[in-house]
Amino acid sequence: MRYSGWRVFTEGLRGQRGWQPVWRDPEPKGGYEVVIIGGGGHGLATAYYLAREHGIRNVAVLEKGYLGGGNVGRNTTIVRANYFLPGNSEFYSHSLKLWEGLEGELNYNVMHSQRGLINLFHSDGQRDAFARRGNAMINQGDDAILLDREGVREKLPYLDFDQGRFPIYGGLYHPRGGTARHDAVAWGYARGADALGVDLIQNCEVTGIEVKDGRVTGVETTRGRIGAGKVGIVVAGRSSQVAAMAGMRLPIESHVLQAFVTEGLKPVIDHVVSFGMGHFYISQSDKGGLVFGGDLDFYASYAARGNLPMVEHVMEAGMTLMPMIGKARVLRSWGGIMDMTPDGSPIIDRTGIDGLFLNCGWCYGGFKAVPGSGNVFAHLMAKGAPHPVAARYRLDRFRDGVGLMDEEGTGAQHNLH
Ligand SMILES: Cc1cc2nc3c(=O)[nH]c(=O)nc-3n(C[C@H](O)[C@H](O)[C@H](O)COP(=O)(O)OP(=O)(O)OC[C@H]3O[C@@H](n4cnc5c(N)ncnc54)[C@H](O)[C@@H]3O)c2cc1C
Repeated sequence: MRYSGWRVFTEGLRGQRGWQPVWRDPEPKGGYEVVIIGGGGHGLATAYYLAREHGIRNVAVLEKGYLGGGNVGRNTTIVRANYFLPGNSEFYSHSLKLWEGLEGELNYNVMHSQRGLINLFHSDGQRDAFARRGNAMINQGDDAILLDREGVREKLPYLDFDQGRFPIYGGLYHPRGGTARHDAVAWGYARGADALGVDLIQNCEVTGIEVKDGRVTGVETTRGRIGAGKVGIVVAGRSSQVAAMAGMRLPIESHVLQAFVTEGLKPVIDHVVSFGMGHFYISQSDKGGLVFGGDLDFYASYAARGNLPMVEHVMEAGMTLMPMIGKARVLRSWGGIMDMTPDGSPIIDRTGIDGLFLNCGWCYGGFKAVPGSGNVFAHLMAKGAPHPVAARYRLDRFRDGVGLMDEEGTGAQHNLH
């Protein structure tokens, strides 16, 4: 079924009786050409592009819970292409271009809103770093404008420009950055993949990975064994656990990241804004809630909720930057499980086991990567060779130290995150 304004109009006249389920609910078959473990954004996008761009339609996505119930439905929805380092820069640029055509391609409203993102800076040194980042973005073909203090004031008059401790010197403005409705992205890809014949199987947890003579042959699940020619592990915060089923030990630590939303307010914040002197960022959802977050809780955990010290830290940073938000009431907070790599950059690669592929390590930034990641992972799984924009996301960079992309300046050690 194609969605359109006309369809909404005619369904209104017919009492909304013509809508169909958005995807089927199939029983798992005995085997598939490709099995994707994980029905988050990355897994669903991979299945979609396998079917759409490579004609591989005998595909199942196995999800232990419900589609979009993981981090893809828990993030703060920011989409941007403002990465600095070669490797990440071209990948996120590719991903943003896919975002820009996504609603038309999927025939689904993912509410992609390019409202502009402003990273604030608060010292001369930080200005230099952001100027370099902006130049890297422009060299990559993306957009960046360095704003001075008055330029920021024009766009964000509600910030506290007078506070003495962290004065605002300016900001790096990325007009094509913005937000998208997170779970709609999962639903859009699910609908697109299903329409191309992919089986989306929910309530199906993978409990084992079957390997014979160095080659993957299938998976054990809570709904029985499923044979597979190729298997992709795309389970975000659970990557270490699932890879361990195939005897692998990954350079991943799972950490909690929290986020918060206030009650709905009239439009007040019409950009995405990030504070340069504390980990705090904010945008306003189309429903009116102020959506904001900060840094990791800084301990390894599989709990999808965080602790009070980080709540206090985030609120403090928010109040420092824009005291007006103190009047808003926080409605909810939640956490998600982040798959942190030592260098802050992802892994999209083959493994030492034939037919077994790995997509993980998105840290706290994998939502914006969903289209790009699905697109390049499908390429890798279909062709056996990396997509040119993802060629540096090798797993072995953590073994030999060659080609680390140290985006966060944290080095190759986990404890520096
Ligand atoms: C609070 C918060 C804020 C964030 N903000 C942003 C942001 O603003 N911008 C941004 O770019 N990124 C952001 N992120 C990061 C982003 O959400 C993640 O990097 C990304 O969603 C991870 O990929 P995914 O969507 O495939 O993960 P998920 O949605 O977690 O998908 C993985 C799926 O695998 C399933 N699974 C796990 N184990 C098994 C198994 N054994 N068998 C079957 N299925 C299994 C899980 O149930 C889950 O549904 C944020 C994350 C959080 C938590």
